[in-house]
Order: sequence, then C-alpha cells, then structure tokens
Amino acid sequence: MINDHSSASLVFLQIHLGGDRNFCYLIGDRDSGQAVAVDPGFDAAGFQGIAVENELNITSILITHEHGDHMEQAGPLAQLTGATIYAGAADKVAGASQLTDGQEFSLGGHTLKALATPGHSPGHFCFLCQGRLITGDLLFCGKIGGTGSYFPGSSAEQQYASLDKIMQLPEETFVFPGHDYYGGEGTMPHSSIGHEKTHNPFLTTENYEAFCYLKDNWAAYKEEHGVR
Ligand SMILES: [Zn+2]
Repeated sequence: MINDHSSASLVFLQIHLGGDRNFCYLIGDRDSGQAVAVDPGFDAAGFQGIAVENELNITSILITHEHGDHMEQAGPLAQLTGATIYAGAADKVAGASQLTDGQEFSLGGHTLKALATPGHSPGHFCFLCQGRLITGDLLFCGKIGGTGSYFPGSSAEQQYASLDKIMQLPEETFVFPGHDYYGGEGTMPHSSIGHEKTHNPFLTTENYEAFCYLKDNWAAYKEEHGVR
C-alpha cells in the first residue's frame, strides 16, 4: 500500500511494507532523481523496487530510531543502493553515521531537516521536508509513542520536551507517523500539528504531571473514550 503525497517536483510516498502497521517513507526530487529512504524496517528489495519505478536513486537512509521494526532492513537496503545510513548517536543502529540536530540533506531543490526528538528512544529523530514532518514513534495520530521499562533508554520527560519542540512548527505542518495507530472512527494515516494540538489527549494535558498521569492510565482512558 502506498499513499502518495507528492507535489510538483517533490516525491513523497508513505509506504506500508509490513510489520505492526509500520510506515516507511520515500522522499525524492523528480528533477535530479535524488532520494532518501526513511525507516526501511521491512522488505529492502520491495523498497528499492518502488524507488526504481519512480526513477529515484536512494543516496541516504534515515532512521527515526533504533527499534527493529524501523531499521531492520537498513543494512540490506544500503547494500542494494550504496546509500549511507544515518541515525541518532544515542541509538544503536549498526553502520550508521551520526545525525545532528538541525542537520540538512539536500534533494535537488528541496531540503530535508533532521530534528532531535529524544524520548521514545534516546537518539530519536524526526524529519521535516516541505511542510511534512515524519514523526517516527514520537507522535502518532491521536496517540504518542511509549516510554518506560519496555523501551530501554526511553524518557517520558524528554518525550514531553520533544513534543513541545515539534508543536512550535506551523499548525498546517503535516504529521506523518511511524505507525498507522489511529484509534478513532475510520482511518487516519496522517494528520497535522494543528489537529494534534487540539485533538491528541496527550497534547491537551495541562502540564508534565498530567501528561504522566495519562500515560500511566492510558488503558483506562482508551476504554472510557472508546479509543481502539
Ligand atoms: Zn519504536
């Protein structure tokens, strides 16, 4: 399944290649053919096939975070394409060059910017390109990524600060998450900063204590509000 959010010379594909409703992304420039892959967790050959079909050449592989469902196929995709893998220094991704906060990648006439957003993992990054923000497991439509003992190195406090950081982006910025986890009526494979700011229960909490309370009582909240 591919959702096409391309415009003019920018190719922006949201791709479902397997896993737990995981999303991978292919972002490229039609004129130069330059492209980056984000989170190739599954099916490196399938991912490369989609790039070839779109006449794109993957030169960088960007990893939002170290969990296997996001980066498992980064190595095989690098072998197929010759691309360089990039990930946060605090995350464990074999063979990756280190990302720095604010680092820019150029794709023909377009720029993609890496934003350090630790919390769900210590070296988590989001990627912003032409008003489209890939949020990995920091933020989902109507939900957020987990922290706690199940996720070694995670920090609710860092996640709270990272969410605040991306909420400073323009409200119309599209949110493209790492999983299709929307729990309301119908489906929502993408959202916007403005929509999440007003509808995501974690982003409408008053302070850090209330945020942690909701995290600790999320199962009860979901049941009470009919969230799947
Ligand atoms: Zn994760």
